[in-house]
Amino acid sequence: MKKLVHRFNNQNNKSIISSKEMLGGKGANLAQMVKLKLPVPPGFTISTKVCDYFYKNNKKIPKEITKQTKKEIAIIEKITNKKFGNLVNPLLLSVRSGSSVSMPGMMDTILNLGLNDKTVIALKKKTLNGRFAKDSYRRFIQMYSNVVLGIDAYLFEELIENYKLTKGVIQDTELEEDDWDGLILNFKDVVKEKTKKIFPQDVNEQLWGAVSAVFLSWNSKRAKTYRKINYIPDHWGTAVNVQAMVFGNMGNNCATGVVFTRNPSTGDKEIFGEYLINAQGEDVVAGTRTPQNITKASNKKSNSKGLSLEESMPKIFKQLKKIFSQLENYYKDMQDIEFTVENDKLWMLQTRSGKRTAKASIKIAVDMVKEKLISIKQAVLRVDPNTLDTLLHPTLDEKAEKKIIASGLPASPGAASGKVTFSAEEAELLKEQMQDTILVRLETSPEDISGMHAAQGILTARGGMTSHAAVVARGMGKPCVSGSNDIKIDYADKLFRAGNQVVKEGDIITIDGSAGKVMLGKVATVKPDISGDFSKLMKWANRYRKLKVRANSETPADTKIARDFGAEGIGLCRTEHMFFDEKRIISVRQMILSETLDDRKKALSKILPYQRSDFVEIFKIMNGLPVTVRLLDPPLHEFLPKSEKEIEAISQELNISNQNIKSRINELHEQNPMLGHRGCRLGISFPEIYQMQCQAIFEALAECKKNKIKPVIPEIMIPLVSTAAEIEILRKLVDKTAQEIQNNNSIKIKYYVGTMIELPRAALRAKDIAKFADFFSFGTNDLTQTTFGISRDDSGKFLNDYVDNKIFNKDPFVSIDERGVGELIKIAAERGRMEKKSLKLGICGEHGGDPSSIEFCEKQKLNYVSCSPYRVPIACLAAAQAYLKKNN
Ligand code: ADP
Ligand code: MG
Ligand code: MG
Repeated sequence: MKKLVHRFNNQNNKSIISSKEMLGGKGANLAQMVKLKLPVPPGFTISTKVCDYFYKNNKKIPKEITKQTKKEIAIIEKITNKKFGNLVNPLLLSVRSGSSVSMPGMMDTILNLGLNDKTVIALKKKTLNGRFAKDSYRRFIQMYSNVVLGIDAYLFEELIENYKLTKGVIQDTELEEDDWDGLILNFKDVVKEKTKKIFPQDVNEQLWGAVSAVFLSWNSKRAKTYRKINYIPDHWGTAVNVQAMVFGNMGNNCATGVVFTRNPSTGDKEIFGEYLINAQGEDVVAGTRTPQNITKASNKKSNSKGLSLEESMPKIFKQLKKIFSQLENYYKDMQDIEFTVENDKLWMLQTRSGKRTAKASIKIAVDMVKEKLISIKQAVLRVDPNTLDTLLHPTLDEKAEKKIIASGLPASPGAASGKVTFSAEEAELLKEQMQDTILVRLETSPEDISGMHAAQGILTARGGMTSHAAVVARGMGKPCVSGSNDIKIDYADKLFRAGNQVVKEGDIITIDGSAGKVMLGKVATVKPDISGDFSKLMKWANRYRKLKVRANSETPADTKIARDFGAEGIGLCRTEHMFFDEKRIISVRQMILSETLDDRKKALSKILPYQRSDFVEIFKIMNGLPVTVRLLDPPLHEFLPKSEKEIEAISQELNISNQNIKSRINELHEQNPMLGHRGCRLGISFPEIYQMQCQAIFEALAECKKNKIKPVIPEIMIPLVSTAAEIEILRKLVDKTAQEIQNNNSIKIKYYVGTMIELPRAALRAKDIAKFADFFSFGTNDLTQTTFGISRDDSGKFLNDYVDNKIFNKDPFVSIDERGVGELIKIAAERGRMEKKSLKLGICGEHGGDPSSIEFCEKQKLNYVSCSPYRVPIACLAAAQAYLKKNN
């Protein structure tokens, strides 16, 4: 067996490895801190590889690991001069999980392992601090019972709360040794009642119980859900970190704290963190006591009265400050750090890249380039394109009327509105019904992850800026207001009170995570600001980008947004969307209901001016950039009246009998409209429709020319082609129409004709089709549907089962299925270019805005991607990253 247990300590740090893959994130970073000669309690990491052995070995720890572990504990004993389970000077351990990416759902840390009825007495004698010893023991019983024995944590919390009530005290720190003695007895009774066994007294049994629990937590429901949402492979496994305890709860020269080296909400270069005197472990994040600020500056900013660490422990603060820049310099990134002070000595317990908002992520990347910590390329690669989404959407309109009902901490920026829900399950349920929700909780825990994912925003009554809700929300890019003391939640009656206001489940509220405000009802929002650091990063990205980015847009409003966001053309203008306007739909219906060619032409001539003026508008905005116009695509019956009332109205307007209309609707009915009379098939049956559309495009160009508007070169796109003959016929129609307009207006018009590739046959026959096409645009929505034979609109019912059963890694409608649909794209690109070297290739499905699909497009050397206007910056950044990754 390879070396599976890896040591870290300051005695000999030459041979230490710090590979994340082997040690998990936490273990690798502990080892790295040791290599940097920072004060880290000695310990060792059981490699992630053992997780696999554990499951293959009937969920038992392999013998070899027990042996190596014993040896490592002996080394910790030597360094600390303490002994595990010893009755004079006992060594206590922390057992911590850690996979390569930090993951909620993994086992919580167990502290003070090694305490039992006897060693606790030894600890008391050795430290001359009975309160500390008993406090540590009760914490251990609580954590171990919850995490390893599976006993609900609230049973213990309740005992403490009730006891404090009878004693008339508020804080845990007000309880003394005797009090804890009594509670320890009560705790042990709970364990006995729940497990029918006494709390384990054998320290080795404790250790192996904890180590196994870490491995078992890898397959907990929560961990699995998280892996599924974040596409983390199951086979990675988790490591286990075992480390000597240091104590922040031995008195007033002890403390424990959490720090971000920069502000994780704004990205500002300032120390951002909280600490507690005389406390241990998770006290700071648990929200049981209100933590204090680390720096004087943040005290001033937040108007806090408590002493900052800078004031209460100036020496430690100075030492920490130096360590922060040392770690930032090494990792070249903002760090999330945990430390403990034991009797005026500083110990580092954790460092990792800090989770941050999209805004902070951009600011930190840009600042670090200025500070010469990273290169421009690294900065471009640093920001996750998907997170930009939160910056590209509207924020609260300052002028809108707001009824603020509560305040809290501005834990994660952005604004969101939705129905109040009090449970993660409810939020998930409503998400399935396409409803927006705000998840309201006392505080969140890892169990709430999928609900937080489903909700638009999160509101908690307890917890600070580093609480679970705050950290997770920032990571997800969801607005969050945490620690809102103003709200009183009543889970049983499904409501919360804010002053006199009662807000019930289902009521709509708005939260502003940038200001920490809660408002009643839905509040209006405004366009985002994309100047400053954002535009700087985009400029940098554009330096490295080869793929062009276009937008899918058919209205002037969307086209304007697309241009503002940097779109370099329109990749898909769906003409049918222009038909639905109230004033036009009548003529469209008339056109469809016509039984003779003459009637149809009459109706079309009414639609023509509308189409023409639409195109003029869009061409104006695009100012010379390419515009791909797709000719009519959906089945005609989509435009027909549905209700009796609509039918009646049409019959009046067009003077056709009710009966006639109904029978025409019946005639148009299709069993399978997606595969029916649509796309270029309409153009073949009713060439006059496509003729009118082309006439509108070319006349719009003529008009632009007349008015000295920079002419665009339209790319006329024929949908749903599967044979060369289809495009051959329809291309002739386009050319003929163009010729007529040129002659009538005595102008020269430049245009291209191409096709969508959205049927497998078209991809396979790309060589023949390219004879008549100047460009291909991959319509990957339909291409995915037709390749899998799955209707996107109906896939919701079983897609989850497919993901659960690992048939699909990801929803193929979100990220391109590279092996199937991708192969067709590859074939079409190759064969098409074989026929015509100059063939222009693009993609216009929803995938055009998905970073991993964009990476695929870069690999296939497509010319452009086209996506929704709001995703244009995401696509630009993703395209730059794809290029950099390919060429590194
Ligand atoms: P998480 O991933 O949830 O942050 P950690 O493993 O970092 O979990 O542990 C949580 C807390 O436990 C830490 O913040 C730290 O305060 C405390 N802790 C962990 N190991 C030790 C140790 N060796 N001595 C003292 N406290 C520890
Ligand atoms: Mg934690
Ligand atoms: Mg931690």
